[in-house]
Amino acid sequence: MTATRVVLLGAPGAGKGTQAARLVKRLGVPHVSTGDMLRAAVAAGTELGQKAKAVMEVGALVGDDIVIALAGERLREQDAAGGFVLDGYPRTEAQAEALDRLLEELGTPLDCCLVIAVDGEAVVRRLMGRAEVEGRSDDNEETIRERMRVYDDQTAPLLDYYRGSKLLREVDGMGSVDEVFGRIEEALA
Ligand code: AMP
Repeated sequence: MTATRVVLLGAPGAGKGTQAARLVKRLGVPHVSTGDMLRAAVAAGTELGQKAKAVMEVGALVGDDIVIALAGERLREQDAAGGFVLDGYPRTEAQAEALDRLLEELGTPLDCCLVIAVDGEAVVRRLMGRAEVEGRSDDNEETIRERMRVYDDQTAPLLDYYRGSKLLREVDGMGSVDEVFGRIEEALA
C-alpha cells in the first residue's frame, strides 16, 4: 500500500475505528481519532472535556474551532510526519479546508480519502450492539439517529469535496472485518 496520509470517512457505525486500527498497523503510522481525543479530555475532566461532554452526549458536533485546533496540534507532532490515518476528522467542510491548509503548510498533502459505505439501518443495529458491549454514553437510539442526521447533513458533503480533488476512494463496508479490510487494501494498493 502506498498511501500514508489517509482520511477515513463513513457514517457512525461504519466500522471506521476498527478498520483504522488495522490500517495503522499495516501502514505503520499513528491513528488519529478526534473522538478518542475528546473522550480522553472528558475522562480527564479538562476544560475542553467539560465543554465537549454535553455536546457529545446528544450526538452533536463539537465546535469547528476546538476540533481544528485539537487535530492540528496532533498532526504537527513528530510521529505524524511520516503519515497518519485520520478517523472522525474532518467532519465538516470548514474542518476539511483547515486540514488542507495545514497539510499544505507542512508540505505533506493528503494521499487519499477512503469512504466506508454502509447501509443506514444495518448501522443503527450495529451501533445498538456496540452500545451494549462498550457502554458508550452517546450510543442510545435517539443519539444514534441524531449522529446519523448530523453525518448526512454536515459530513456527507465531504464526499463531493474529496471527489473534486480526486482523492476519493469508496469501499463497501458491509461484511466481516476481514472482508472490508481486504477491500481497503485493494483500494489503497
Ligand atoms: P467518534 O468517536 O468519532 O464517533 O466521535 C464521538 C463524538 O465526538 C462525535 O459524536 C462528536 O460529538 C465528537 N467529535 C469527534 N470528532 C469530531 C469532529 N471532527 N468534529 C466535531 N465533533 C467531533
